[in-house]
Amino acid sequence: MTLTDLMTMAKSNEELQKKIRNQLWNTHPDECYQCMRCTSGCTSLKLLELKPHEITILVNAGFIEELVSSDIIWTCTSCLKCRERCPQKASPYNTIMALRNLAVEQEAKIPEKYMKVVAQILETGMAEQAQIVTSKDMQSFNREKLGLPEIQQADDKFKAIFMKILGG
Ligand code: SF4
Ligand code: SF4
Repeated sequence: MTLTDLMTMAKSNEELQKKIRNQLWNTHPDECYQCMRCTSGCTSLKLLELKPHEITILVNAGFIEELVSSDIIWTCTSCLKCRERCPQKASPYNTIMALRNLAVEQEAKIPEKYMKVVAQILETGMAEQAQIVTSKDMQSFNREKLGLPEIQQADDKFKAIFMKILGG
């Protein structure tokens, strides 16, 4: 579903809007003046349909349910560029994280790929397995060949902290 679809279908919900705002600490989406600096630097924008300035305007208009049930909020890579670039204290990143929290709370559908990454971090401590790299002269190198130490698996302390961050 595109953001344009969301906007045409959206219904304002003040209660959910208030709930999102309460989770934003020192961030104020209503200060957004649509300069689009966030969107022009967004890491997810080239490949996906995430437009941080549009998400901000939808939240300001109270169209929360549509965002919470959309895949769009899960495409953010948490690069924090929008937070750095925003001339106001509107940080779309913080808004997106609050929307994700609400999605989990409401048991909305979370994309399978996202859950796979979470499961992998919980198991190994890493979002991706260590890769084999190939040099210019087509030689392959793994960590051992590069003299790098073996990667430790996630221990119980890490798992407990990770679950706490996830709110589990
Ligand atoms: S950079 Fe900040 S003020 Fe500008 S559009 Fe994005 S959220 Fe709004
Ligand atoms: S934190 Fe998310 S929304 Fe903000 S610039 Fe990065 S990918 Fe885009």
